[in-house]
Amino acid sequence: MKYLNLKNTFRNSLLWFVLLSSLWVSAVELDQPFKQMQKTFLDQAREVVSRNKSAQLYLKEIVPEESLMMSVLYMPPEIESKNLVILSAGTHGAEGPLGSAALTLFLQEYGEKVDRSRTGFLLFHGVNPYGFDSGRRVDQENRDLNRNFVVTSDELEIENSAYSKIEAILNPKHKVKSIGWSYFKMLGQVFYQLTFGGMSINEFRQASVGGQYKYPKGIYYGGAEVSPSVVHFKEIILQHVKDYENILHMDFHTGLGESGQLHLILAAQLNTFERDKMSEVFDRTDGKFYEINTGESEGFYEVTGDITDFIRKLQGDSGQNIYGVTAEFGTKGLGILNQLESLHAIIQENQGHHYGYANEGLETKVKRTFRELFNPSDPGWQKRVTENTRHLFGVSLPRWIELHK
Ligand SMILES: [Zn+2]
Repeated sequence: MKYLNLKNTFRNSLLWFVLLSSLWVSAVELDQPFKQMQKTFLDQAREVVSRNKSAQLYLKEIVPEESLMMSVLYMPPEIESKNLVILSAGTHGAEGPLGSAALTLFLQEYGEKVDRSRTGFLLFHGVNPYGFDSGRRVDQENRDLNRNFVVTSDELEIENSAYSKIEAILNPKHKVKSIGWSYFKMLGQVFYQLTFGGMSINEFRQASVGGQYKYPKGIYYGGAEVSPSVVHFKEIILQHVKDYENILHMDFHTGLGESGQLHLILAAQLNTFERDKMSEVFDRTDGKFYEINTGESEGFYEVTGDITDFIRKLQGDSGQNIYGVTAEFGTKGLGILNQLESLHAIIQENQGHHYGYANEGLETKVKRTFRELFNPSDPGWQKRVTENTRHLFGVSLPRWIELHK
């Protein structure tokens, strides 16, 4: 009976949300440099701290020589510690603007409305401040942080032998000389590999992007050491998560998936109970605002050193429910050619960074293509991701809290 009432409440809030969002669809501001977006977040965070004396703000320089910081806001629950919601943004620097805008939107419009009696919040802004500032996906040591969240350093020695087979395709070791011709050349090499190299397209994708620890100048490099971002993230997590029964961690990304779609990719380690709870939260009656995926869904993949599996690995068998979710806003589409085009943009940006460009015009074009891959300037895309983010905070998040009362 209680369950039925709950469902009606959800339906009503959904109706209100649809009505309101049709009147109020202003897109979040995405085309701003890192320090500007950080300031906007910090202004909001400081306001929270001034209103609530038990809230804490942690500022940590990750790249001291460039004064690039990660900012973390902790808002404890009002009555008792039961649930903790963690929102993190900018793990992939170039994908930072949307995640940053989402955190600010949360503080501006939802932080006060959401039921915080037994739920605390922990917000990580600029997990990879170097990448966010420079427009790169990776950190100051070319590490893909979402392959670097490991608990023991032997995880950084995992062998990706399939990557080695195609390494020459993924990491050309000379200046960028063209875009179109280089793309056709890459398509030819991939086709050759699929036809004569005994690799399926899924194996090719998994090998390329799953993570590698052998080529420091290569794409999807997970690093030889744990990055300062991961060390700091871990310190804060260990300080706070032990007090909570239920932990929801959402890490914001852009790039993979259908344009404007919010793909919620559940972490590999969710158990049956947690998966069932997530199916109740995301029950698909409001499915136009999101799609539930896993690393095994068509077009997606498993990675090593993933941030959304990190808290579970840290906590071991603590008995806590830990829901790791990647909130990925798609841009280019999941078709094979869309994915190869995205891969080519990532290859060229990395190649240009390490080996340079034949001329400035090429550099501008490659960087623009790379930026568009993660931050489309299309107002239609921006409007849709804003609506999906509002739905996530306005409807899905309160549902998760309600189900863990
Ligand atoms: Zn990403």
